[in-house]
Amino acid sequence: MKRIGVLTSGGDAPGMNAAVRAVVRTALHHDMSVVGFKRGYNGVLMRSPSQIDDFEILTARSVSDKIHRGGTFLRTARCLEFVQPEIQKLAVSNLHGLGIEGLVCIGGDGTYRGAEALNRLGLPTVGVPGTIDNDLAYTDFTIGFDTALNTACECLNKIRETSDSHERASLITVMGRNCGDIALHTALTCGAEICMIPEIPWDIEEVADRVKWGVVRGKRSMIMVFAEGALSSLTTDLAKLCQQTPALNEIIPHNNRVTSSQLALIIEKLSGHETRSTVLGYIQRGGSPSGRDRMLATQLGAHAVDLLKEDRGGLAVGIRGTKLIEVPFEDVQKGEHAADAGLMDLVDIMAVISH
Ligand code: ATP
Repeated sequence: MKRIGVLTSGGDAPGMNAAVRAVVRTALHHDMSVVGFKRGYNGVLMRSPSQIDDFEILTARSVSDKIHRGGTFLRTARCLEFVQPEIQKLAVSNLHGLGIEGLVCIGGDGTYRGAEALNRLGLPTVGVPGTIDNDLAYTDFTIGFDTALNTACECLNKIRETSDSHERASLITVMGRNCGDIALHTALTCGAEICMIPEIPWDIEEVADRVKWGVVRGKRSMIMVFAEGALSSLTTDLAKLCQQTPALNEIIPHNNRVTSSQLALIIEKLSGHETRSTVLGYIQRGGSPSGRDRMLATQLGAHAVDLLKEDRGGLAVGIRGTKLIEVPFEDVQKGEHAADAGLMDLVDIMAVISH
């Protein structure tokens, strides 16, 4: 291949810039030129009034001073119409028009579906896992996860200090969509007492009991890490519970869903211990990438280009143990990954509430 493209798509993740840098510099090393597309698949559709808003040739200098920066200088955006076959054909035609023979797509599951479609239409594509959620089963880690974990840890340390001083319980909501990895790893690395994730069923009365027990055992703060998707695995019927508990009558759950503050209030009323809620939100998506994320981004970005150089497309790159791997797009969600019950047991063992 003489020319390849690169884009970042889906939610931004720290380390995306480092991955683009690795793609560009590896390609230059192989005498290939690189075009960077802006705002995910939108750039490939080339509909902006000004061409520079859609794409630009990336040189070694374009990616200087980028490895340590969070976000993505290529910018990212959803491009919902990209599910349409006609739009995908337009993208391939635009890419061919620019002389592009292969494309590196950095993003999550959705981004891979777009890449898979382009590959099927004859344009070789390689996916690089750029998402803080760590929700791609085929790879141990995605780029951005480690930084998000470190950010969550830093925030939790601060929340613990104030919770400890006021002898309160804290319910901290972290990101991860349907994957509990950020929550579980944060809980373990911050010594949280309780963790709730989408992959493992949990009961709110049990959580409140644990808070009660923790207080009885002399814990000054009770830290509960709550994955944003964890209500999906809650086994308690919240509507019934709120109806039957006078102090909770004002809460009216819809489809067994309540807000984080309402969840904290339910725990407070059931445990009798003051409970505050904090939602960490987008702070977890920003920040300078950790050393680990920079390493992963550099290795995977380079590996993606090496595959394209060998005319190999339709693949997603990742890491298993210390080994770089590549799997066909259709196998991206195959295999065991998240919901490590052993790690959840470890949270309980470390919390020492039941002994
Ligand atoms: P994150 O994990 O951070 O959310 P993601 O890549 O999964 O990242 P999505 O919003 O799901 O984020 O997808 C990003 C983009 O990928 C979409 O805006 C769309 O352009 C493209 N895409 C998603 N699903 C498909 C699909 N089924 N077919 C073609 N393109 C798709």
